[in-house]
Amino acid sequence: MNRFKRILAFGLAVALTGTLAVGCSGGSGASSGSNDTAQDSGAAGGKLVMATNATFPPYEYVEGGEYEGIDVEIAGKLAEKLGRELEIQDVEFDSIIGGVQSGKYDMGMAGMTVTEERKQSVNFSDTYATGIQSIIVPEGSAIATVDDLSSDTRIGVQQGTTGDIYATDDYGEDAVTAYKNGADAVQALVTGKIDCVIIDNEPAKSFAAANDGLVILDTSYAEEDYAICISKDNEELLTQINDALSELKSDGTIDSIIEKYIPSEG
Ligand code: GLN
Repeated sequence: MNRFKRILAFGLAVALTGTLAVGCSGGSGASSGSNDTAQDSGAAGGKLVMATNATFPPYEYVEGGEYEGIDVEIAGKLAEKLGRELEIQDVEFDSIIGGVQSGKYDMGMAGMTVTEERKQSVNFSDTYATGIQSIIVPEGSAIATVDDLSSDTRIGVQQGTTGDIYATDDYGEDAVTAYKNGADAVQALVTGKIDCVIIDNEPAKSFAAANDGLVILDTSYAEEDYAICISKDNEELLTQINDALSELKSDGTIDSIIEKYIPSEG
C-alpha cells in the first residue's frame, strides 16, 4: 500500500467519526475537536473553529490520526496570528456553508472555490490558492479530452462541489452521479460504474497515484480560486483573516506551505 492509499483508506475509516487532533506540522495551538460550536468563541483567545472535509489531499486529509495538509497548516498560522486556538471539525463538504451561515463554525476551509452562488450565502476571504477541475478516466478510455464528454457520459463527482455544479449544468442531471466524497467517486470509477470523475486537480493526482489504471486528462475542465468562507454576520473576522492572509502571503509563508505539498517542477 503506498502513501496515498494509506491516507485514503484511513481517511475513509475516520470520515464519519468526527474530529481528530491536528498534525504537529499543522501549526501550533491546534486542539482536537469536540462538539463545541463557534458561538461565543469570537473573542481573542477563544477557539477558531474551522469546518473542513478531510478527504481532499493535499489540502486536508488525515494521516497517522492527525489532520494534515495545506489548508490545515495555513489555518494553524491564521489562528496563531489571531491569538486563537484552532479547532478542526471534519464534516461533509456540502454541510460546510450551512454550518458557517448558522454560526456553528467560524470559517470553512476546504479547498473551497469562490462562486457567485456561494457568495449569496457567505463571505469569502481573499483567495490563497488556485484550483483546476480535472477529469480522471481509466487508462485506454474513449474519453481523451473534455470535448468527448456528453450527456451520455456517466460522470462521477463529489456532492455539492463545483465539479458537481458545472457538470450538472453542462451535461444534465441524468449524466451526473454525486458521491459523498471524492474517494467514493473514484471507487465507482475503478469498479466501472461510471466513465469518469470530475474533481479538483491536486486530489485527482492523489487518487490517480493511489489507484492503478487511472489517468488524468491533459485538458482541464475549469479553473478556479480557493478561499475561506465566513459568515456574512462576521465582518470583523473577515477583516482579521484577510489581514493575516496578506501578511502570510507577503512573508512567503503561504508559498512555502503550498510548495511543501505541491513541489513545483524544475
Ligand atoms: N473546489 C471544489 C469546490 O469548492 C471542491 C472542494 C472539495 O471537495 N473540498 O466545490
